[in-house]
Amino acid sequence: MSDITSVVARLRSTFRTGSTKPTVWRKQQLVALRALFTDNRESIADALFADLRKPRPEAYAAEVDFPIREIDHTLAELDRWLAPTELAADALAGLPEGTTAGTFYEPLGTVLVIAPWNYPVQLSLVPVAGALAAGNTVLLKPSELAPATSALMARLVPRYLDPDAVAVVEGGVPETTELLAERFDHIFYTGNGTVGRIVMRAAAEHLTPVTLELGGKSPVFVDRDVDLSVVATRLAEAKFRNAGQTCVAPDYVLTDPATARELEVALAEAVESMFGDDPRHSDAYGRIVNARHFDRVAALLDSGTLALGGRTDRDDLYIAPTVLSGVKPDAAVMQEEIFGPVLPVVEVAGLDEAIAFINDRDKPLALYGFTESETTRVRLASETSSGGLGFGLPMAHLRVPDLPFGGVGESGLGSYHGPHSIATFSHRRARLDVPLT
Ligand code: NAD
Repeated sequence: MSDITSVVARLRSTFRTGSTKPTVWRKQQLVALRALFTDNRESIADALFADLRKPRPEAYAAEVDFPIREIDHTLAELDRWLAPTELAADALAGLPEGTTAGTFYEPLGTVLVIAPWNYPVQLSLVPVAGALAAGNTVLLKPSELAPATSALMARLVPRYLDPDAVAVVEGGVPETTELLAERFDHIFYTGNGTVGRIVMRAAAEHLTPVTLELGGKSPVFVDRDVDLSVVATRLAEAKFRNAGQTCVAPDYVLTDPATARELEVALAEAVESMFGDDPRHSDAYGRIVNARHFDRVAALLDSGTLALGGRTDRDDLYIAPTVLSGVKPDAAVMQEEIFGPVLPVVEVAGLDEAIAFINDRDKPLALYGFTESETTRVRLASETSSGGLGFGLPMAHLRVPDLPFGGVGESGLGSYHGPHSIATFSHRRARLDVPLT
């Protein structure tokens, strides 16, 4: 038996003992996972700095405090989320007197979590928390592109979590390919759509359900007559954090030509107040994960007129926060998810053209709008589709743990966070009780 096969067999046999089902065990695991975060705050930030030059405040906020908040919310609400539902008596017409019916959640079994490199801790351990809260055993495969973080999790997880119920397997494509040949009861994959398809094909072999947390080009519609200094500050904060390597980062802006000019000026001011006059020397600005991604993003810089930024240094994996003006729909930067610190501004005549532009493309993971108009909000909500929809503050929707986080169409399948993680990692079982007399 290969190592991977024996790890999976161990996790399956633990699940069979029933030890992961009691709510008390689930809560113990969540409390232990919380301690992993609080005890190792500094080592986590160190690993993220090594992998991504992630600024410490970003590391604490997104990769330590965010998961802790998710765990605390789950601990507080788990009993309520797991409570069985019961149908009203009038839904049972025709069945004998005294009949009851409802649903309850049962764990699926052994879950595989495959994580990416951009928020390598959060996107590994928040799904693990959800799978454990739902009573499963879990195998985590972190991304090989964030090696320091992967090694740290491989070292810490067995120290804090039940080693018979949770395992970490490190590695890249060969290990993932081997893992995908095994039978799991759910596969939770975060990453790109190409690998998403590989995962789904492998899962189909065993009829294993999948959650695919993918990406896409998340548009931002900026209406006329909005306060552009507020818009620029919030847009720059969302776009340039983690050097743009965020799945829900605004990918491009759609706005009318006059607003575009003013917004570009406001963005330059916002970037300067975030990172000073040379972002390269700012502690608050990260780097591109590796040379391959650097080359991919750097090749997009001549897709429009430079309104801001454009400097690069391959040895340092540095790409300046960049705004491209007057970008045409057929430019290279508009053909694929940017996943880097480059913000194209595409000019449209108004809302109708913006909606058509969005609907001509794949359904994005997020769609953002800055507008004072209720009609515009209603139209964006009803005439487009996206994983999430956020007005006024890009990326904030994923911090609300009771909102489902996930994509639609090319941006993904399924969702998680809070109660949605329980739904994802459980089977909702129907139950009918008919009295014998
Ligand atoms: P990645 O390259 O780290 O890949 C993710 C995982 O897939 C890794 O564990 C990797 O080992 C595995 N993998 C890679 N190639 C494989 C293959 N051929 N066969 C089997 N497994 C393979 O991450 P990435 O894809 O570069 O991440 C960036 C993408 O992820 C972007 O599109 C981004 O939008 C998306 N993303 C989505 C979310 C979300 O929550 N929806 C979050 C972060 C990133």
